[in-house]
Amino acid sequence: MHEVSVAQALLDKVIEECLNSGYKSVRSVKVDIGRASGVVSDALFFAYNALKSDTIAGESSLIINEIDIAARCDDCQKEFTTQEKYVYECPFCSSWRFTILKGKELNLIEIEVD
Ligand SMILES: [Zn+2]
Repeated sequence: MHEVSVAQALLDKVIEECLNSGYKSVRSVKVDIGRASGVVSDALFFAYNALKSDTIAGESSLIINEIDIAARCDDCQKEFTTQEKYVYECPFCSSWRFTILKGKELNLIEIEVD
């Protein structure tokens, strides 16, 4: 499962940053997850919660901010957003040629520590 390696990388980074700054426990971790990133939020939650035990992030909660997909049509040049995981066609002209502008994010945005 892809989310396990993502959660592990996230956890490693959180723990490293926390220890480097001299903190002993993590309260919460906020991440931006684009809907087109290929990461399923529920699966990431599950993996994070399974991996965090026995670490200094053991009591932390993961807060996921899902980012909608935004794209620009290459044909009619209009921009559109969707809450779907995939974009199949432009909603204005039905073209399938478009450029994804947003929604591939996978970013650690904030760590709250005690
Ligand atoms: Zn279009």
